[in-house]
Amino acid sequence: MNDGKQPCVFFDRDGIVNRDPHPKRYVEQPDEFHIFPAFIESLRVANEKGFAAVVITNQKGVGVGVMTQQALDAIHAKLFAAIRDAGLKLHDLYFCTSTDDAHPHRKPNPGMLLAAAQKHSLDLSRSWMIGDKERDITTGRRAGCKTVRVCLPEKLIKTPTAADFYLDSIEKLPDFLREYL
Ligand SMILES: [Mg+2]
Repeated sequence: MNDGKQPCVFFDRDGIVNRDPHPKRYVEQPDEFHIFPAFIESLRVANEKGFAAVVITNQKGVGVGVMTQQALDAIHAKLFAAIRDAGLKLHDLYFCTSTDDAHPHRKPNPGMLLAAAQKHSLDLSRSWMIGDKERDITTGRRAGCKTVRVCLPEKLIKTPTAADFYLDSIEKLPDFLREYL
């Protein structure tokens, strides 16, 4: 029976929400933050299907001093503005700037998902974690979510995936979610 908890789609940021900054390590300024139209469409599907939507991102660049917290806040303000302009809703965004791999919120530790589940009353077992790195998949599995890895096939050679599903392009994510959510 429905216990009143809502399922959620957790989106990794760089490589899923926006173009990966490669060859740079971090998106350091709002003008370097390029949102994928396919992410906006994926969010639309999540909203329409009654799923919450939360972005989950490691941003160690702040912790190591490559960028400021103000710059990170400005980048996220740009994201929320684009989502609002599209008439959509992102329920929350969690970022972890820690440089400590043992920090409970730093992926692949599942702390950000657990905190979101607590705050927004989410059903993790019916939720999904979407990411481009295997670290995201580990995070999702540790939280008990279903997982989707989205990356170029050559990336799988170095880091094979334990994800439930694999997509070779972010362009395929909206249709995937339309079918599976
Ligand atoms: Mg990523």
